[in-house]
Amino acid sequence: MIEFQNVSMEYHTGTVALKDVSFTIQNGEFVFIIGRSGAGKSTLIKLLTCEEKPTEGQVLIDDFDIARIRRSLVPYLRRNIGMVFQDFRLIETKTVYENVAFAMEIVGRSRRVIARRVPIVLSIVGLREKAKALPGELSGGEQQRVAIARAMVNNPMLILADEPTGNLDPTNSETVMALLEEINRSGTTVVICTHNRELVDQMKKRVIEIDDGYLVRDDAVGGYLRHTPCSTPDNLPPATTTGIGPEGRQP
Ligand code: ADP
Repeated sequence: MIEFQNVSMEYHTGTVALKDVSFTIQNGEFVFIIGRSGAGKSTLIKLLTCEEKPTEGQVLIDDFDIARIRRSLVPYLRRNIGMVFQDFRLIETKTVYENVAFAMEIVGRSRRVIARRVPIVLSIVGLREKAKALPGELSGGEQQRVAIARAMVNNPMLILADEPTGNLDPTNSETVMALLEEINRSGTTVVICTHNRELVDQMKKRVIEIDDGYLVRDDAVGGYLRHTPCSTPDNLPPATTTGIGPEGRQP
């Protein structure tokens, strides 16, 4: 479980990137974090990966307080988080197989375990045939699927994706989202920061919106745009809201 309790985060420059943000993500949820550029989405991710600490409030991951966690435990926490980035971040000189295997090598898995696991994960992302290819020989969509294979290979409890479809065309974007949804169905929590309006609307998942550091929306089944009474046609029911409560909703 991920818990943000009244979290504020101020950079040394004086920019307050998150302001009194509170929400809870249960294990196994699929959540979109949306908001315009500069809203605070990456800061939120950096708190989850222990790259930053909150200036106020608490960030809890499975009851670990990330501000108090011992430095030596940070790698163990990160091991439980699979990251997917907009720009894939594959090692260009390693093959698809080696890129995925490397994520297992650095956490000390044996060669036997790696040899068993990597082909399974490459099959899940539909790239078993490309195991020997280099990233430069793949399309953007395929590269992102390798990155997803790498993110999931160690069975993390959480996959954090930062604009995973930012460099992809609509078809590949859908494939990538479908894959993340499939991984989520097997129990992994998936949190995706995105600007991809169409996909957020299509997928009908929980949407948390950040604006200027404030959490301004938390809809159980959301779309990219807020459904206000005046934008909702008379013949449609308004979007369901989890109701984050007056203490969670910001002015
Ligand atoms: P988003 O991911 O939604 O685009 P960010 O979390 O990157 O937003 O940024 C939130 C705010 O914090 C912005 O005003 C940004 O300029 C500022 N910011 C981000 N990273 C840093 C940093 N390392 N040092 C100082 N300010 C930062």
